[in-house]
Formats: sequence, C-alpha cells, structure tokens
Amino acid sequence: MRKLITALYLTSGCTQLKGTKVPEISAKSFDVIVVGGGNAGFSAAHAAAERGRRVLLLERGTSDSAGGNSFYTAGATRIPHTGLDDLRSFVEFDDRHVVTEVPPYSSEEYLADLEKVTDGRTDRDMANVLVHEAQHAVRWLHGLGLRYRLMYERQAYQRPDGSYLFWGGLHVGNVGGGEGLIADHTRVADRLGEEVRYGAHARSLVVEDGRVVGVRYTDCEDVEHEVRAESVVLAAGGFEANADWRREHLGEGWENAKVRGTPYNTGDMLAAALEIGAAKGGDWSTCHSVQWDAEAENNESNRELTNRLTRQSYPLGIIVNREGERFLDEGADFRNYTYAKYGREILRQPGSIAWQLFDAELRPSLRTEEYDMPGIGVHIADSIEDLAAATGIDPQVAVTVKSFNASIDRNVPCDPTVKDGRAAGVEPPKSNWASPLETPPFYAYPVTCGITFTFGGLKGDLDGRVLDEEGHAIQGLFVCGEMLGGLFSGNYPGGSGLAAGMVFGRRAGAIA
Ligand SMILES: Cc1cc2nc3c(=O)[nH]c(=O)nc-3n(C[C@H](O)[C@H](O)[C@H](O)COP(=O)(O)OP(=O)(O)OC[C@H]3O[C@@H](n4cnc5c(N)ncnc54)[C@H](O)[C@@H]3O)c2cc1C
Repeated sequence: MRKLITALYLTSGCTQLKGTKVPEISAKSFDVIVVGGGNAGFSAAHAAAERGRRVLLLERGTSDSAGGNSFYTAGATRIPHTGLDDLRSFVEFDDRHVVTEVPPYSSEEYLADLEKVTDGRTDRDMANVLVHEAQHAVRWLHGLGLRYRLMYERQAYQRPDGSYLFWGGLHVGNVGGGEGLIADHTRVADRLGEEVRYGAHARSLVVEDGRVVGVRYTDCEDVEHEVRAESVVLAAGGFEANADWRREHLGEGWENAKVRGTPYNTGDMLAAALEIGAAKGGDWSTCHSVQWDAEAENNESNRELTNRLTRQSYPLGIIVNREGERFLDEGADFRNYTYAKYGREILRQPGSIAWQLFDAELRPSLRTEEYDMPGIGVHIADSIEDLAAATGIDPQVAVTVKSFNASIDRNVPCDPTVKDGRAAGVEPPKSNWASPLETPPFYAYPVTCGITFTFGGLKGDLDGRVLDEEGHAIQGLFVCGEMLGGLFSGNYPGGSGLAAGMVFGRRAGAIA
C-alpha cells in the first residue's frame, strides 16, 4: 500500500528522498504546480515565477533522465523573422555571419506552412498565435538566459564561393541542442526560485468543488504525495511512449514504432485530465514520426545519441523497401516539410523497414552528425546487386535503380538550396534533387519508424485553460506543449514543437 502524504511543501528531489521514510510537512505552499519539466513546462514555470508566483515543478524523470523530449531535440526552433539583422541581437556571434544569407521568413509564410503540411487541419486561432508570438517568446527566453545560435550544420548550404545560404524557414536553434536547452531552462528555474522535484510521477488531479486544487504524485520510492496550489499547468507530453495507446489511437502496427525521445510520456496526465471531464483536443489518430536507424543498438530513448539516430538526408538519394521498390517521393519538398510524415510510410512497408540508398558521389553530402556516428546501421557494396545480397533487399532493386537513373532529366542542374525541379520521371516520381546512383561504392542505411510525439492532446483555449466537453474552462487547470492538441495533424513543419511549447507555455504560465 502506498503511503499518502498530504504535503504543502517538501524540500526534496527524488534522490534526496532516498532513505527518508516520511518527508517533512512544511507550511510553505505554492501558487502554481507545473507537471512536466520539458521546454513547455519550464516556459510556463518561468512565466509564472517572474510574476512573483511560487512555483513547484514536478518531473517524472530523475535529475539525470529529465528534460523530456525537449532534451532529445536538436533545439531547432521555427520563428518568423526579417533576415539576419533581425536575429543578431539574440543569436550567438559567429565569424561566419559576415558571409551568411538568411532569407526572411514571415508570419504569413509560417502560417501557410502550417496550413500546407496539415492539409488545412491546424487550428487557425492557435496557429495565428504561434506564428505571431514565436519570435517574441524566443527573445523573452533569451532575456531570461537561454542561448540561441544559427544552425549552420543542419539548415545551411555552403556555396562554392564559401558563403552560406540558409533554407527551409528553420534557422535558429539552442546552443548545445536539446541538452543545452534543458540545462539553460534548469539554471533559469533555479535563479527564479522555482522548486523542481525530480522522480515525481504525477498520477491524478485533486478536485474540490469543481476546481482543480492540486496533484497527487508518487516519488521514486513509490511513496504517494499530494501537493496543492491555486493553479495546475499540465505539460507532461503526449502518449508516444505508451505502446497500448499507440495501437489504440494511431492504429495496428504503431506499437512496434521505436520511441525516439523520453520513455516517460505515457499519457498518464492526459488520462487524469480526461478522467475529471477535460475534452480531447486535436488529432488523436496521427503523430510525428521519422526515419530512424533500424539496426543501431540501443535505438530507443538513447540519451547519448538523442536525435542523431534519425536519417534526414533522404532527399538526396532514394528509399526502397524489402521488395526493392520505391514507395514515396523523396524530393517532394524540403526535408522540413516531409520528414515528420515519412516515418509512417516506413511503418507501412513489409517488416516496417526500408533502406536509404546513396552512391559515392552523394555520400559526402549526407549530414555528418547523422551519418558519421559510431555504431550506425549501414551496408556498403561495390554494386547494387551486392548491396541487395548484403541487406536482404529483393534483387529487383537493381532494376529500380537502373530505371530511376535513366529517367532523370540531367539537363536540369541539381541545387539543394532550392526546389530545383530536377525530377526523376518514374513512379512514384522524385520531384527534386534527383541524382543517379551509379558510382560505387553504394550505401544502404536501414531505417524503421521512430515515433517523436503524438498530435492529440487536451482541448484548451488560447491561454491554455483546459476546456470540458461543453467548452467551459475547468477552473484551476491549464495545459501546454505536446499535451495541448490542435496545432498539428498528419504532418508538421520542423522546429514548431519547441516554438509551440514556449509560446503556449508562456501564455499558460502567465495566466496561471
Ligand atoms: C529525438 C527528437 C528530436 C526532436 N527535435 C526537435 C527539434 O529540433 N525542434 C522541435 O521544435 N521539436 C523537436 N522535437 C519535438 C519536441 O521535442 C517536442 O515538440 C517538445 O519538446 C515538447 O515539449 P513538451 O515540454 O511538451 O514535452 P517534453 O519535452 O516531452 O516534456 C514533458 C515532460 O513531462 C514529464 N512527464 C510525463 N509524464 C509525467 C507525469 N505523469 N508526471 C510528471 N512528469 C511527467 C516527462 O518526463 C517530460 O520531462 C523532437 C523530439 C524528439 C523526440
């Protein structure tokens, strides 16, 4: 039997609790409890704390497994801006800035991208808030102490004259990636006097007279606690790490997807909120998923390699399934606009596996941080036939490659910085960046489906108040981050998860 402790204040993180039978009960109380210590939760916590609110943040991970999916990110953050001059005041200085072009990316373009990739299913009001507040939110976090930079290694191409051209509307990222983001957030939380309790697994909400007044959680010794506050902000992620829920909501086969990020986002607080009458928001039947190393050891929730197990240079090559057939347009758009839906396409293939193929000409252009890592799943051979034998791909792949090569319009120059229209006229077509695979050695990178996060969450208003089925706000309850449904469906523009977390986290924390 768990021991229930009603505590207004505990001085503890999980590690400090070890060996302590019953934590002290203190008179100190909190104004705001935030559940979940990822980017959204910390943003909410900072917004509340800088307004003088006493904030308690409950995080399920211990201090060395905390940070949620946000820890696993590259830190890429999509914001609108008018070019490099607009960014200089909050990105770290870099010698390369003098030879760098960052094309402007307007709020209108951001909104259009959200509309495009979701096929018009994004919640228009939420999307409007996101695109108009994302840069302000980054400036706000920078002012608090978070550090940003231009993402040369992922989002820029070097021209032959040595200058850099950024592409794809996604230009800014955190210094130190997701790890740096969480380290910065944690430092800010400390400075603003927020109390962070690690190893605190929230289980249910405390409701009195129709108002949420607290949270029940268990610590890592399974001791149960109850903490109370005027407001509770839920920022505990989606349900991507819950195989049963994946199968139930996303469909058959999704239980086999690899979990890219934290193992703790199992939907417990979604269940707790639904239990007290919160309405579901957004699209519960789709998610963000990518091509993910199928053969590397330890290819789930790997805190060392984090996002490096993804394979994102596919627009340069071709992807074939076990039968040796292509099944999607690798060059349909810039990677940022297709990568989040292509994991699903891999899941649908026989054995939920596929191989990205490149030749010796293409190999140097692949992203270093993803294709040059130790322990990577890769097969290399001097002919496509040998590659088939090494991987188990049907030998038919040699015919696929031959007809792909023959169908390319080689009069159109290849230019990865624009949608160059250099197409391969096969079925399915490759619409841009088609290069023949004809120079040995040939490379095959095995990929499966890695799930990133689920798109369905709770229904909230624009300030993150959680709504019930009748559209009424549940008093005392707020939501942000992955837990707030509505922005994404089917697909997603890269870098908007972190942007959404800070924008709606800040809003929820400010009002809570
Ligand atoms: C590998 C990878 C790379 C990514 N790269 C990018 C990128 O570069 N740019 C981008 O914009 N997005 C990226 N994303 C998506 C991005 O991570 C999410 O959109 C964003 O981080 C979500 O923030 P969040 O705070 O809502 O959730 P999280 O960061 O997941 O935080 C949720 C927190 O809640 C905690 N929690 C869960 N349940 C409980 C509970 N019951 N009690 C207490 N705590 C609980 C978890 O431990 C976790 O710390 C990536 C995701 C992954 C997995």
